[in-house]
Amino acid sequence: MIHLKTPEEIQIIRESAQILAQTHGEVARMIKPGVKTKDLDRRAEEFIRDHHAEPSFLHYNGFPASLCISVNEVVVHGFPGTYELKEGDIVSVDCGVKYNGFHSDSAYTYPLEGVTQEVLDLLNRTYDSLYLGIAQAKAGNRIGDISHAIQAHVEQFGYGVVRELVGHGVGRNLHEDPEVPNYGKRGKGPKIVAGMVFAIEPMINMGTQRVVQEKDGWTIRTNDRKPSAHFEHTVAVHEERTEVLTSHEEIERNYTYKWRSKSR
Ligand code: MG
Ligand code: MG
Repeated sequence: MIHLKTPEEIQIIRESAQILAQTHGEVARMIKPGVKTKDLDRRAEEFIRDHHAEPSFLHYNGFPASLCISVNEVVVHGFPGTYELKEGDIVSVDCGVKYNGFHSDSAYTYPLEGVTQEVLDLLNRTYDSLYLGIAQAKAGNRIGDISHAIQAHVEQFGYGVVRELVGHGVGRNLHEDPEVPNYGKRGKGPKIVAGMVFAIEPMINMGTQRVVQEKDGWTIRTNDRKPSAHFEHTVAVHEERTEVLTSHEEIERNYTYKWRSKSR
């Protein structure tokens, strides 16, 4: 069942998303070779609590941290820990904030200096696919229009679209209906209407679409151990426009490696 949000509820999610954007910006300052991923997690939790909010992921179905930190071949749901980032890594930082009863959710994959052009291409194309998906997330379209836009963009480069994990409604619960897959057909799926709030989150593998779960019960990695990228925004659908509630602006301001270019 899809819970449509009132303008007042969307305003709360907007505020939640602003705290989330700033949290990402704080983490962005710390991303460099030698930083332990658990230190990123500690800073995120501290920042969220300082802003009278709660980390959505901490204890969610038993998840042990405030951030999902997923390095290289890890697709999503990696645990922060003692691993130290190094040159040539890519690292996905996924975070959720609960504020005044409502969640927001967004993710960003950072390349560290020294990544290959092939990996930068994967990141740029996945990033672009998120915005191509958002462009289809408008009242009157269907969820499949979003799914198709993402899939069509990335598959032209031979990438694998993860099937087991999808975008989702966001509200009083971190994961609500509708599911927002990153693959699908135009004109299929639930109709998009004003009041919907959902996360769009392409998870795109350089190689095979197949993924496996590690024995910890959470960490998802690519079956072929090639790298995977993940970008996510939470959006709100209005009658005349769709609003991106989360933001990567703080990340892009604070992260010193200016890596972005349009898809090639
Ligand atoms: Mg999500
Ligand atoms: Mg997320």
